Amino acid sequence: MTQNALGVDFAKRLSETPKTPQERAAILANPGFGNHFTDHTAVVDYTVDSEGKGGWHDARIEPYGPIAMDPAASVLHYGQEIFEGLKAYRHADGSVWTFRPEANAARFNRSARRLALPELPPEVFIESLKQLVSVDRDWVPDGEGESLYLRPFMIATEAFLGVRPAREVSYRVIASPAGNYFGGELKPVSIWLSENYARAGHGGTGEAKCGGNYAASLAAQLEAEANGCKQVLFLDPTDGFAVEELGGMNIFFVFKDGTLVTPALNGNILHGVTRDSVMQLAADRGLAVQERRITIDEWRQALADGTLTEVFACGTAAVITPIGELKTKDGSLVTPTLEGESVAMAIREQLLGIQTGAVEDLHGWLTQL
Ligand code: PMP
Repeated sequence: MTQNALGVDFAKRLSETPKTPQERAAILANPGFGNHFTDHTAVVDYTVDSEGKGGWHDARIEPYGPIAMDPAASVLHYGQEIFEGLKAYRHADGSVWTFRPEANAARFNRSARRLALPELPPEVFIESLKQLVSVDRDWVPDGEGESLYLRPFMIATEAFLGVRPAREVSYRVIASPAGNYFGGELKPVSIWLSENYARAGHGGTGEAKCGGNYAASLAAQLEAEANGCKQVLFLDPTDGFAVEELGGMNIFFVFKDGTLVTPALNGNILHGVTRDSVMQLAADRGLAVQERRITIDEWRQALADGTLTEVFACGTAAVITPIGELKTKDGSLVTPTLEGESVAMAIREQLLGIQTGAVEDLHGWLTQL
């Protein structure tokens, strides 16, 4: 098996049938989210040899298209799969940047360890993003709130039905232009309290970004939609109904005394990159940031006594979204209309500003692609 000099040596096989500039422009005029994909994909394969030694090899850019896979590939049976999500932003001078990719690379490897998949050197993760964007740069939109969503993932491709870690694995990156999540308008959202389903259990895969967690959240998501909500809030039923996170976002609470609270990373919660960034920017602003246990009862009580002023969710897709209402089967917890400046909106503006190059990147969070 030949090993490429990873990180520098991505072989390139370009698409012979890329979208025409007109087709691309039509897509970019209204990209939505996750509907359209660029002309190429980045791939790196991993194989364990007969001596049991594993290695990454054959880093390459190839045309976007279906993956040929054996029907016995273990990802199709046992879900040995992980993924990441981050965005590329076009700045006013035309340059393209991404936000804290080393944090996504580190989380990818944490997920890999949990799913018994091989770790990918962080420099290969970051190089794969650079290589893909270098061939599909024209797909990075430049409208307000728009970006190119990058989706790295790793799948077990070995054809083998025994239950053990696969000896053949493929790492890939695809990219999808993403429109303004809110269509220009940011309204507080209603979320649904899941009482029939948990997202994660102690010792499970809650803090890994693996496909199975999202498959397991879909029934709760359907329940939320049936109750007029777009997102689900999951609790830890084994810990006095402590708040964990939403199906695809972390959650924060702003208190009148200048405290910002978010559930502590207890093994069940995803280590959100936006979560970490919000905590840093809040601390910079002089807020007292607490990562701790917070229950539905505390939430209800703090609304009743007027000490809780804002609730918001955060994640790569929607940045920061105010939560106006938590709907439950026994009624609603409604966040009162805010008097004065919103902490959520101020941090949102700052974070978006850093990502899009309008605000100085004091923490060195941007990487040019
Ligand atoms: N929680 C879950 C379950 C998620 O899927 C996501 C999205 N990756 C987040 C939180 C937010 O993480 P990030 O800020 O890194 O996008």
